[in-house]
Amino acid sequence: MSRLAYVNGSFVPHAHAVIHIEDRGNQFSDAVYEVWGVIDGELTDFDGHLKRLDRSLSELRIRRPMTDKALASILFRMVEVNRIRNGLIYLQISRGTARRDHVFPTDTVPPSIMITAKSMSPEKAEARAQKGIAVITQKDIRWGRRDIKTVSLLPNALAKQAAKEAGAAECWMIDPDGFITEGSAANAWIVTKDGVLVTRPATNDILNGITRRIIFDLASREGLTFEERAFTRDEALAAREAFITSATSFLTPVVEIDGNPVGNGHPGSLSLQLRKSYVATAKERSRKREKRGSIWLVAR
Ligand code: PMP
Repeated sequence: MSRLAYVNGSFVPHAHAVIHIEDRGNQFSDAVYEVWGVIDGELTDFDGHLKRLDRSLSELRIRRPMTDKALASILFRMVEVNRIRNGLIYLQISRGTARRDHVFPTDTVPPSIMITAKSMSPEKAEARAQKGIAVITQKDIRWGRRDIKTVSLLPNALAKQAAKEAGAAECWMIDPDGFITEGSAANAWIVTKDGVLVTRPATNDILNGITRRIIFDLASREGLTFEERAFTRDEALAAREAFITSATSFLTPVVEIDGNPVGNGHPGSLSLQLRKSYVATAKERSRKREKRGSIWLVAR
């Protein structure tokens, strides 16, 4: 079966899915995106990602192309037609197509929307988590509104490439005061020697990860202590555990920072416990939905 994408109202073969050359996402990064993980056929943390999408659009004054209900049915259809059991759904909305001009086009120009789907191996992801990943650190060179999920990802791409070239999986970026902001595509966390989970507060400096917020809920439920505060590279090096969170990596332990082991150099027990809870909760939701035989729209 060939993969299908959704572009401006139509499901089209992925290989033939195109956006106009004068799309403002292409010329000005004038677009936002959202990524849902898929676990056992279920879009994870569905409402949280939808809410953040709404926020990103309103912060940039990009019109919403359709209602949440219409969008939800297309997103679920994308999972179905592409037979995604585990993987991700990517959605991008730009301010639309107009003759190149920095100034916004008139309200008659509709926003463009595109959606793609990707399968990912849960076994490979699990093996990676059980082994843990290495991260490097670099100066954060991004703009001041990292809370908006825009497609302006060049600094993130440069950081991730630097990590790859150093044999690492992620790059944690550091602000001018020496505090870690986040990873190129994930939030950054440490567990202190006292067993306290620490991650940076959700200001304009970082993307307020949906997975990050779910981990707070899970941590509370499991009686763990957490703090929202910035931490330095030195503090991370002295931490008992470290990990990253994102919709596609869930929670993945960090075992090395800039070539130095974190804790004993193996994934930490709290990190693995929280990862397990996250995956189990998502699988449980999928089982419930499959039992009902209904999709999100019918379910609420
Ligand atoms: N920070 C950045 C820069 C990201 O790209 C991502 C992944 N979208 C995250 C954090 C994690 O966000 P989420 O948990 O919503 O995937």
